[in-house]
Amino acid sequence: MSLVVENVTKIYGRQKALDAVSFQVRRGEVLALLGPNGAGKSTMMKIIACYLPQTAGKVIVCGFDVSRQPLEVKKRLGYLPEHNPLYLDMFVKEYLRFVAGVHGLGRNSKARVDEMIALTGLTAEYKKTIGALSKGYRQRVGIAQALIHDPEVLILDEPTSGLDPNQLAEIRSLIRDIGKEKTVILSTHIMQEVEAVCNRVIIVNKGKIMADAPTGELRLLHNAGKALLVEFDKAPDIQKLKAIAGVADVVAEGRNGFRVFSQGVDDLRPAIFRFAVDHGFTLLTMTRQEDSLEQVFREVTD
Ligand code: ADP
Repeated sequence: MSLVVENVTKIYGRQKALDAVSFQVRRGEVLALLGPNGAGKSTMMKIIACYLPQTAGKVIVCGFDVSRQPLEVKKRLGYLPEHNPLYLDMFVKEYLRFVAGVHGLGRNSKARVDEMIALTGLTAEYKKTIGALSKGYRQRVGIAQALIHDPEVLILDEPTSGLDPNQLAEIRSLIRDIGKEKTVILSTHIMQEVEAVCNRVIIVNKGKIMADAPTGELRLLHNAGKALLVEFDKAPDIQKLKAIAGVADVVAEGRNGFRVFSQGVDDLRPAIFRFAVDHGFTLLTMTRQEDSLEQVFREVTD
């Protein structure tokens, strides 16, 4: 396991930013922490990267405890913080050499810096100062510094925020390539980004994990939130309910109640109402189920 997070809680003053969060990440996974602003994503990442102590719980990176063995963790972990803090007056190469020095790479520094410049596509720009670079290139410098000591785990906090569409595509493709070799955990509030880059997603809201699934199941999860709870005076044939246009699935609930899932149709209520009228049923209840996952998705994907 590259990462084990066990019951991690973080309280800032009176604000609970993380509430008993647990998950594990295997080597080679590219995991997205998806959630609206304030969900607790940055806090989680800072704790994993040893930048912030947790209030309770345990985090193990590559077998080392972040609280007890932070130096061992930092050797194996690269971190690109949100807003990518960089020394703008430094030249790209100078900065990367400096970071390599901090990691104690010694004689390997020069070769490693050149390797990072090539890997992150900085070759055309490396002679400039960081302040003279576009946002996309600065992001590459941030990724290069996070990778310089060849860590097993890479933590990227909102790596594509503020990039234009071309830069976005380039950085996503770079992260995909890096993900072939490393364990990557990135945070985002963009669902498309998860689908483009990650093979697993953890949806976070208000400091809690709402869902944890392979990216392929993201849409299914999303649809699972869009359910209607209906109750008739007597139970109709479930197959007939399933045959209504726009219905993805129906699950019986209670005596004459059903949970109806939609697909491709935003509001199934008119169709259910017509079904009841056409088949002689009286509709006793019909409520759109706004479960918390649906709310998170709304906030995340709006
Ligand atoms: P996200 O990265 O998902 O936007 P954060 O981890 O930045 O979320 O924030 C989670 C919650 O913790 C928010 O409500 C935020 O206001 C609060 N928070 C974050 N950092 C601090 C801090 N240093 N002091 C107090 N509250 C904080």
